[in-house]
Amino acid sequence: MARDEEILGWRPGRWRGRPARQLPSYEDKAALAAVEAHLKDAAPVVAIGDARALREEMAMVARGRAFVLQGGDCAENFDDAVAERVARLAQLFDGMAEHLRPAAGVPLVRIARIAGQFAKPRSAPTEMRGRIELPAYRGDIINGQAFSAAARAHDPERMVRAHFQSVGTAATLSVARHGRDPIYTSHEALLLPYEEALTRRDGEGGWWATSGHMVWLGDRTRQLDGAHVDYLSGIENVVGLKCGPTLQPDDLVRLCERLDPEDRPGKLVLIGRFGADRIDAALPPLLEAVRGRNLVWIIDPMHGNTEKVDGRKLRRFDAITSEIAAFIRHCRAAGVHPGGMHLEMSPDDVTECLGGGGPQGPADLDRAYRTACDPRLNARQAIELARQVAALL
Ligand code: PEP
Ligand code: MN
Repeated sequence: MARDEEILGWRPGRWRGRPARQLPSYEDKAALAAVEAHLKDAAPVVAIGDARALREEMAMVARGRAFVLQGGDCAENFDDAVAERVARLAQLFDGMAEHLRPAAGVPLVRIARIAGQFAKPRSAPTEMRGRIELPAYRGDIINGQAFSAAARAHDPERMVRAHFQSVGTAATLSVARHGRDPIYTSHEALLLPYEEALTRRDGEGGWWATSGHMVWLGDRTRQLDGAHVDYLSGIENVVGLKCGPTLQPDDLVRLCERLDPEDRPGKLVLIGRFGADRIDAALPPLLEAVRGRNLVWIIDPMHGNTEKVDGRKLRRFDAITSEIAAFIRHCRAAGVHPGGMHLEMSPDDVTECLGGGGPQGPADLDRAYRTACDPRLNARQAIELARQVAALL
């Protein structure tokens, strides 16, 4: 990074000078530039005022006076029926809230993984089927799921379609919830050309991501000197940070200082995702390392509990509830508010996770295994989870 940039401060495109993981490689640079220019002039997906309102609600969580319920699909799809999905997901949030709200004893802050949750980090850059190797599917905003060279090519035009769908989804959500228990939007800020183009200035000169109310940093892109950390360090939105089992306490301290040097309550949300068998070793040193900071801790009990059986990913309900229980226990022992949870869930009757009133064994997953990426709780499992977590609270 040039020295003058450091002195002049942050700007939305500064990430371009840093090492970036998990980004697509677009061959047609002219097409990419045209898409970026289009998005720079396009409508924001969310209003800055609403992203600011979430900051205030999250500050209440940081003070122990609210509880976060965040959830939705691992990945949205271009063929989602938007109006129907919004209505059904909102209904699921309400059903879970009936259990959680009285048990938490504080207001709930509802945040969906929606209206921008299109880009996926992958553990391998390619996928093999038989003897054919193709680029991995990286989410509908980057390429297609079909196993063909044409579908898997990285296509910048997909950003335009994702933006269009996100604007419609966010508008539908805000009309549906007008005045009553708002549901905010969130997604992983992975695809930086898209995020940069939708970054806008408020009246006081602050920069906001208008791609969603809250954005988070994935567990695979949290390198201190990396592009994603640089982008997220400059925006005013609530920023989440996925904390996996390999995150070292001193790295967490540096990340917090980098992402929120002013230590503002509600600005930073640490999202633990360790796995039921690793949380006991991993979480207490992290809680200790950042004790005293005004941040929010929540738990994602999904991503550390993924298993592969017969080539297909699954998650067990018991591992999910056990990680949540451990989270609450460790937070209480450390005198930290267990601030909420982050789930992958669907309002549909999908069969992707085992137990909790859903499929009993791997063979039962066949009926409705529909996820584009990771296994989600179905509506019945999500309500059962809310019931059990209410009992723990
Ligand atoms: C996700 O939230 O879908 C995800 C990929 O999470 P993580 O970065 O924690 O693996
Ligand atoms: Mn996922």
